[in-house]
Amino acid sequence: MLNLVLFGPPGAGKGTQSKRLIETYDLMHLSTGDILRYEIADETALGMEAKKRIDKGELVPDEIVIGMITKIVEKNKQVPGFIFDGFPRTVHQASVLDEILHSREMSITMMLSLEVEEEELITRLLNRGKKSNRPDDQDVSIIERRLKVYKESTQPVRDYYINMNKHVSIFGMRKEEEVFSSIREAIDNMLNKKDIHV
Ligand code: ADP
Repeated sequence: MLNLVLFGPPGAGKGTQSKRLIETYDLMHLSTGDILRYEIADETALGMEAKKRIDKGELVPDEIVIGMITKIVEKNKQVPGFIFDGFPRTVHQASVLDEILHSREMSITMMLSLEVEEEELITRLLNRGKKSNRPDDQDVSIIERRLKVYKESTQPVRDYYINMNKHVSIFGMRKEEEVFSSIREAIDNMLNKKDIHV
């Protein structure tokens, strides 16, 4: 199995690169942000609870996202692998993800970390906000809050994977195709090293 964590701050390009990864490696895309937005659109209790946090630029509680991920991993035993996009976002989520996967004899193959400077992130998010109806992309103070939360709560997740020797840094301030070609190179190197076939 090929299980990837696509990591990076809001606006780094995780969603865009995920689309390309799914096509190339036939993986199942699991974006906690997308799942939460579906729940909000459906006006479920979980969605309403999540919306309060998302609109403020805060994280949704670990239990909620961990519950969602567990269900999906459990339901999809036959897939060649997963792309975890926007998850794990806290060290607690990362260690629970390991437990969930290990209990099913699976593991994370690698973390791909998209690196983009803060000024560029703000520009990208505000542009996205003009085209989409995401309220969290439309207000500079909410965007700044998300970037602060990222630094405080999410960045330590990178160290978690560095310590396990699973982290690869990808320079994200280039054309989409160029970023993707670096991602592909990193994955293919890893697969060759481990002699994994997908
Ligand atoms: P982006 O990375 O551009 O901020 P996402 O779609 O990944 O966009 O996330 C949007 C929002 O959803 C986050 O700001 C957060 O409130 C919530 N969210 C998504 N994934 C998680 C997660 N794993 N843990 C907690 N909250 C999450």
